Amino acid sequence: MPGYLERLEGEAGDPLAEGGAELRALLRGDCHLHSDWSDGGSPIEEMGRAAQALGHEWAVLTDHSPRLTIARGLSPERLREQLDVVADLNTRWAPFRLLTGIECDILDDGSLDQEPELLDRLDVVVVSVHSKLRMDAAAMTRRMVAAVSNPRADILGHCTGRLVTGRGRPESQFDADEVFAACAAADTAVEINSRPERLDPPRRLLRRAVDAGVLFSVDTDAHAPGQLDWQVFGCARAEECGVPAERVEHDLDGGGAAGLDPSEPGQSHRLTVAPRGRSTGCLRRPRAPGPA
Ligand SMILES: [Zn+2]
Ligand SMILES: [Zn+2]
Repeated sequence: MPGYLERLEGEAGDPLAEGGAELRALLRGDCHLHSDWSDGGSPIEEMGRAAQALGHEWAVLTDHSPRLTIARGLSPERLREQLDVVADLNTRWAPFRLLTGIECDILDDGSLDQEPELLDRLDVVVVSVHSKLRMDAAAMTRRMVAAVSNPRADILGHCTGRLVTGRGRPESQFDADEVFAACAAADTAVEINSRPERLDPPRRLLRRAVDAGVLFSVDTDAHAPGQLDWQVFGCARAEECGVPAERVEHDLDGGGAAGLDPSEPGQSHRLTVAPRGRSTGCLRRPRAPGPA
């Protein structure tokens, strides 16, 4: 176990995950990771190779967007440059595939922090709130609903913005049912963020997202190669909260109910649509220890 993780566990006071193995075994990729082009610690190539070594068939590079200057968010020019770098790496990596993406800031008015034409070129667009996390609930709800309803958005990243270790950070306040309903209507997946200090959404909201009929994406949000195996923490919570495996994006070919469809290059929305309706095969588990 890496020292960093051990420390986080110590702070949280509990083991981070029990279970999760069943769902984890179904996953073929990871939709949210960073390289040293933004605030990650490692070159793109190292992140890709680590994902491949874990057995992933694909991974999505999602560095930050321009306004997140503290994380060295990519300008349109740098993102275009990155697309060329990724294309070049992919010529050597087949059958593993590094997909292009972004973790795009949701601006105050709910618009997305990157050129629309550029977002259209990406395989996956994760949209996240990183600023004004304390906005009042009504305004935050409008902001998030606008973002997840944007046809260019594929995944809503770490929806509450909470931090559960160290000094922590409280959840942003918003009408979760309204936001999840908008996600369901727009086929924007709700991320289950696996980072030990995030574990976002909290269990009660994860269960409400299940009831809302949304798709899910279990992501690591890895900022270093060693963090790519954190996916099991998100899987454990997904299982525990009754997330149906068929509503989790897990397959590049769309072989699962919701997958990434590589046959649609150049289109803005590549996450295929899962069947609507309530789950049949819930993976229910007893409550594991750890933060809510
Ligand atoms: Zn983020
Ligand atoms: Zn991230």
